[in-house]
Amino acid sequence: MADDAGRRTGQGNGAKSDQDRDGDTILINKLRNKTLKIYELEKELSPIDAIRVRRSFIEQETNTTLENIGIFSIDVERVVKRNCENMIGTVQVPVGVAGPVLINGGYAAGNYWLPLATTEGALIASVNRGCSAITKAGGAEVRILHDGMTRAPVFAADSVGHAAQVCDWVKVHRDELKAAAESTTSHGKLTDIVTFVAGTSVYVRLEFDTKDAMGMNMVTIASAKVADLIAQGTGVRLIALSGNMCTDKKPAAINGIMGRGRSVVAGVALTHEQISSILKTDAKTLFEVNYRKNLVGSARAGAMGFNAHAANVVAAMFIACGQDAAHAIDGSTCITTVDLTETGAYVAVTLPSLPIGTVGGGTGVETQQECLKLLGVAGSGTPPGTNAKKLGEIIGAGVLAGELSLIGALGAQHLARAHQQLGRGTP
Ligand code: NAP
Repeated sequence: MADDAGRRTGQGNGAKSDQDRDGDTILINKLRNKTLKIYELEKELSPIDAIRVRRSFIEQETNTTLENIGIFSIDVERVVKRNCENMIGTVQVPVGVAGPVLINGGYAAGNYWLPLATTEGALIASVNRGCSAITKAGGAEVRILHDGMTRAPVFAADSVGHAAQVCDWVKVHRDELKAAAESTTSHGKLTDIVTFVAGTSVYVRLEFDTKDAMGMNMVTIASAKVADLIAQGTGVRLIALSGNMCTDKKPAAINGIMGRGRSVVAGVALTHEQISSILKTDAKTLFEVNYRKNLVGSARAGAMGFNAHAANVVAAMFIACGQDAAHAIDGSTCITTVDLTETGAYVAVTLPSLPIGTVGGGTGVETQQECLKLLGVAGSGTPPGTNAKKLGEIIGAGVLAGELSLIGALGAQHLARAHQQLGRGTP
């Protein structure tokens, strides 16, 4: 294990002796002549030293200097085993905060500073303005509507009749399948099974309560057990453990309709005065921008997301909080609605598919864990599941803040000006 100075610089054992340098050169030569594979360096060296040698090799191969990629403080012993293969260092994404935002949720209650990791200038300033509107309006009302992570193996039946039999068999043997799935995990619970057929292809969409884990590894392991039982019991052939009816990391209507991960809804009632003083527009304009842009414009474009920029907040909070960044695709399937009220407007976001967790995956990487800590959601909740639901509500409120601010800026014709002032610099 490298000393602290080594960890901070990503250089491994701090000051290097001639002998160490000779050792690096020997290994780099072996990588070059392919007698050592790039992923085998950790067998020869401690993780921090393997990272340094691999980076030096890549620098030489590509004729570059990766000195900034080589500076980091995270515990690589853990990361190389769980999160990142062939590691050469880290990419630093700036993290800012927006808030505090007042949240009145089923799990999140109080004021929260939202950590957002982004390089998009003007984003955090915009979310900050939305947070201010929400807080002045008495807080965002946020609820978890549904909670279930899914995996859907695909099987090949002999005929459409056989496919229908498989669906019936699954229905009859539900308890047995549930017991098999839950034998693989001490936290996960199989909560639903839905079958779909297309010709001779049968999809069994298994849904789990994964407590505080995002759960994709957990449900994939459990689904393998279930899939084997279905194949044995029906004679159907298992083709793939993921048949894309899950649907993971692809834009898909099924996630929006049935929910996947945490399904979150967040809303706020704004008065005419708040809309005018904070968002610099009026309720009717908010309504019309939302109607013509987020609803009609998205429908005309065939978009899956009926929102202004939910992905901005989802991606920035996912990166900050150690979530799987590819899930920003599913997470930003959001519908934004504006209802005109006598006192102003009620603005809401509905996020049916937020795959998030507070244990497992990237949540244990120190910098990401610090972001979870500042939200009070790091690790297991008491009882398990409550931390992930709380994180879902906080992200929901963040998305609401982003939507309010951008719709307001569009309504006030301020968008280009804000980006000119905040988001533009010399490259
Ligand atoms: P994981 O790190 O593989 O496992 C998390 C484990 O933590 C759970 O299985 C559970 O063990 C344990 N745990 C401890 N306290 C818990 C609590 N309070 N609530 C829930 N579980 C608790 O994480 P994962 O969430 O299953 O999967 C996330 C990872 O999957 C990410 O790295 C993501 O990038 C990756 N991923 C995988 C796939 C895939 O197809 N495999 C697809 C997309 C993403 P027990 O189960 O033993 O109780």
